Amino acid sequence: MRRPHPIERLARVQAERAAAGTLRRVRAVQAAEGAWLQIDGRRLLGFASNDYLGLAQHPRLREALWRAASRWGVGATAAHLLGGHRGEHEALEQDLARWTGRDRALLFSTGYMANIGVLAALLDEGDSAVQDKLNHASLIDGARLAGACLRRYVHGDVDSARRQLAADPSKAAVLSTDGVFSMDGDIAPLGALARLCREEGAVLHVDDAHGLGVVGPEGAGCVAQAGLSAGDVPVLMGTLGKALGVAGAFVAGDATMIDGLVQRARSYVYTTAMPPALAAAARVAVEIARFESWRRERLAHLVAHFRHGAAARGLELVPSTTPIQPVLAGSAETAVALSRGLLELGFYVPAIRPPTVPSGKSRLRVTFSVHHGEADVEALLDAISHVRQRLS
Ligand code: PMP
Repeated sequence: MRRPHPIERLARVQAERAAAGTLRRVRAVQAAEGAWLQIDGRRLLGFASNDYLGLAQHPRLREALWRAASRWGVGATAAHLLGGHRGEHEALEQDLARWTGRDRALLFSTGYMANIGVLAALLDEGDSAVQDKLNHASLIDGARLAGACLRRYVHGDVDSARRQLAADPSKAAVLSTDGVFSMDGDIAPLGALARLCREEGAVLHVDDAHGLGVVGPEGAGCVAQAGLSAGDVPVLMGTLGKALGVAGAFVAGDATMIDGLVQRARSYVYTTAMPPALAAAARVAVEIARFESWRRERLAHLVAHFRHGAAARGLELVPSTTPIQPVLAGSAETAVALSRGLLELGFYVPAIRPPTVPSGKSRLRVTFSVHHGEADVEALLDAISHVRQRLS
């Protein structure tokens, strides 16, 4: 019998997805300015970016990047442990630790790498990885990489989390949760989860990819907003590619944990450090995110305006107070049809379907940034209503 061929198998998956209309496609963006994108030669108003604070094109970040590139060049040339760790990285780690109220912070090249690195370092085979069902894929993959026993609890349900933790009290346990859930925009019950972890002797790991810069005092994130200390949340992960408008990520915590990650987090050890010029740009982004609170106020205003208008038009939202404001569509087909209809009208709003979200919960993932104005929100709401009517 001929052995299965991995590439032919990929081709089969692709054909199946094409037949089901669920094929994922990459589209090249030809130009981007504020909230506007150009795709296939068409100018579109985008509601898809995670650049919530509008920093990705900020002149001060560009300037910092340019200056640092003039000094250091482009690439870091090596891993952090092998001469790639430049002064810019060190300074950024200190800024991030100060901002999040932690002893130390450790940079990773992406958030995905930070989560798989930290979980594989903290968990041994057979340990308990207790996770919210709606956690980001990188948290799930980190638990799998560790060979841990993945125990998933009902979204946001602390009693369900308690049952999963109690399943094997003899094993070390890390409870991981998104701070702001990436596809729903709601915030995890961090205070109750921290209490649970203390009672059960588990370590709480919060992935605040979408909360950092956006919620909490000085934008310090969900953990700060919940009034929790470094002792309550020993492992805090944040990304630099979303509200901070750059790229990369970090894990913050006490010196023992960070030193341990340097020894054991393979996605830290065996990869090239992020370009130092990006670290320089991220330092400026942290400063703006902390001190320009008008950006968060503007987002809150846009979100309130959107939710009010959506309710008036009978759109089904989820209970989110963050700039992630999904509009539920039900079936994958309806979500795709809505997204296509919006594209025809000049709006870029991606449809999110299974397996990224549970079946029957397909949606438009609407996100806001400070680049949007009230008129943009109104235009989007009218367009969604129009396309919905046409589809029905
Ligand atoms: N965690 C969450 C909750 C995310 O939404 C994302 C990005 N999609 C990541 C981690 C991964 O971050 P990065 O894009 O920096 O790899």
